[in-house]
Amino acid sequence: MARPTVARIHLEAISHNYRLASRMAGDARAMAVVKADGYGHGIRAVAHALAEDAGKYAVACLEEARAIREAGLTHPVALLQGVHQQADLKDCVHEDFEPVLHSPAQLAWLSASTEVPRFWLKVNTGMNRLGFRPEELAGVWSGLKAAGHDSNLLGFVTHFACADQPGNPMTAQQTQCFEQATAPWPELMRSVGNSAAHFLEGQPLYQWSRPGIMLYGGSPMEGKTGLELGLKPAMTLEAPLIATRTVRAGESVGYGATWTADKDTRMGMVAIGYGDGYPRHAGTDTPAAIGGRRIRLLGRVSMDMLAVDLSSVPDAREGDTVELWGDTVSVDEVATCAGTIGYELLTGVTARVPRIYQ
Ligand SMILES: *Cc1c(COP(=O)(O)O)cnc(C)c1O
Repeated sequence: MARPTVARIHLEAISHNYRLASRMAGDARAMAVVKADGYGHGIRAVAHALAEDAGKYAVACLEEARAIREAGLTHPVALLQGVHQQADLKDCVHEDFEPVLHSPAQLAWLSASTEVPRFWLKVNTGMNRLGFRPEELAGVWSGLKAAGHDSNLLGFVTHFACADQPGNPMTAQQTQCFEQATAPWPELMRSVGNSAAHFLEGQPLYQWSRPGIMLYGGSPMEGKTGLELGLKPAMTLEAPLIATRTVRAGESVGYGATWTADKDTRMGMVAIGYGDGYPRHAGTDTPAAIGGRRIRLLGRVSMDMLAVDLSSVPDAREGDTVELWGDTVSVDEVATCAGTIGYELLTGVTARVPRIYQ
């Protein structure tokens, strides 16, 4: 029998979360962000689950967009990082991919192309990763007009740096900067909102929002879990208890002997570790669950296993299923314990862990 360490993917939760995003987006439509293999949930299955609801998908790169086509879906797909070579533009035309162009080099490929896709322009309003500065847009526009490519421009995209913090003034500043920068083209579309922006009161989302993490039930907001925001967890990561023992007072557990029992303690070993994508930085006291009851990790996470405290679940037995995250323990809590965010944990579940769709 196969090792029962699995990620159960709840496609109904993903649909629920998408519908919530859609409602929260108001008049904007929500393109479903399914990059990084659907945030670790499997891009094909996720794209299929959203096929009826979502009018558009968004991914980071061409390979991911092709996976959507290979899954038999024909929706437009936005490429959030544009393309990496001129030849890719031709594929975009034929496949209905919409690259978000962010650099002079990408524009040069566009002018040199005979076949030009519909595309977006990325505007840098303060994130300072990618995009044209507001004052550069007029020049970019004249270049597009001169090449006869202006009619392929769908609109403008920008990205927020601090939307996960509701009180942070930077989001309003970026929004204002974006409004001013794009005001000369009122007939074109605009897109600003990642998941977090859906939760900011009064935040304009224009024609298209771009929810990612919230589709999977992960929290986009600092200090809040997805459950607290009304999201349903789309992944339950589970593994079997493969051994139980009592460690005596004074004995330690695991590499580095970082946890020592202060009294005799019944503990268990769980068949999952950082080789499966469970974060090694999650230390003693990180929550897990058995049968809906919360337990805690003990000591260091190894590559293929980790130790848990069974004091609070005396009836737990070898073969029982341990939830590492899911309905009882939010991935956001585990992430906080590991000094990271749910995004990293969800996208980091390795290929060794089968995804089971239900
Ligand atoms: C990944 C990404 C998103 C989605 O962000 P979430 O925080 O996961 O909602 C939106 N826009 C861009 C440009 C992205 O790269």
